[in-house]
Amino acid sequence: MTKRDYYEILRVKKDATPEEIKKAYRNLALEYHPDRNPSNKKEAEKKFKEINEAYQVLSDPEKKARYDQFGSAEGMGGFDFQGRGFSDSGNFGDFSDIFDSFFGTRTRRSEGRASPQRGANLRYNLEISFEDAAFGKETKIEVPNWETCLTCKGSGAKPGTSPQTCPDCQGTGEIKSTQSTMFGQFVNINTCPRCAGEGKIIKDICVNCKGTGKVKKNRVVNVKIPAGVDTGHRLRISGMGEPGERGGPSGDLYIVLQVKPHKIFKRTGIDISCTHSISFVKAALGGITTVPTLEEKAKLKIPAGTQPNSIFRLRGKGIFKIGTQQRGNQYIKIILEIPTKMDDQQRNLLLEYAKLSGEDLEKLGEKGIFTKIKNAFG
Ligand SMILES: [Zn+2]
Ligand SMILES: [Zn+2]
Repeated sequence: MTKRDYYEILRVKKDATPEEIKKAYRNLALEYHPDRNPSNKKEAEKKFKEINEAYQVLSDPEKKARYDQFGSAEGMGGFDFQGRGFSDSGNFGDFSDIFDSFFGTRTRRSEGRASPQRGANLRYNLEISFEDAAFGKETKIEVPNWETCLTCKGSGAKPGTSPQTCPDCQGTGEIKSTQSTMFGQFVNINTCPRCAGEGKIIKDICVNCKGTGKVKKNRVVNVKIPAGVDTGHRLRISGMGEPGERGGPSGDLYIVLQVKPHKIFKRTGIDISCTHSISFVKAALGGITTVPTLEEKAKLKIPAGTQPNSIFRLRGKGIFKIGTQQRGNQYIKIILEIPTKMDDQQRNLLLEYAKLSGEDLEKLGEKGIFTKIKNAFG
């Protein structure tokens, strides 16, 4: 293991950013690659190995933290800082292997250089009220989005300048390298690391977008929520996703709905249900009660002799079936209110009622029935 300081090897400061470390590694790896130093191969190999070792540690946040803590590679016994591909075999692989694994250029390349690419789809989670889900709504949302920079028209180059042909690959986006192996010479064609296969490099970057060609801009999107949607429903707005690359079409925007629960109503498909309390007197004698609906309140007729937990239906007071005029029902389960406080007069009237019904509250029935029920449950 080397005794030298990894930061020193990569010629970066201790507080260098991952970008700076990557850049430094790239430059040094290019400079000292054994293929590029045929006259001084031995020395270059040694140096190249050192650079790789340093980069393997400093590019890995975990290893870097350990290295920073212990100050050197020594004394950390057991940690493998060599990593795959570089250490034991003495085979340095070739350029592209290194750059592919470190810079992900293979992916870029397989997508095809300079071909138009469709923009990414965007997902937007939108929470809506129970009522808006039932009746539909038109609303506006602000979608964070990247748009083509108008200053440079997406080129990333400062206005008045234009991206230049990459001098390393002469605009082809590819670099050939020869590798001598025991089987003979191999010519490898690889993605140019300098321009990442684009074939062009930007010298003066556009200040507005910092050379990315895109700027962040919220866009306001009109959303039409149809009546009857439920949680998980997706609305697709085509072409409202991220812009495409190199003239490719924009992606789509997917709005995924989340319906807030209602204080009173529960939903089952297109039907809704709720509970509603009435006095035991009204249940016994019958009458009219006012019940909530999704719209204005409605009157419900309670027939005489209504039993606890009876269910009444309000036809067509539920939720619309998406895309139709068909509407579900509202179901109301009746809860009986038993008074907890009565004045003497009320009490006497009820006692009178009991007497008329032949019910002796003091000794009869209740206990006997209760015991029976208890026995029935074992
Ligand atoms: Zn720009
Ligand atoms: Zn190039």
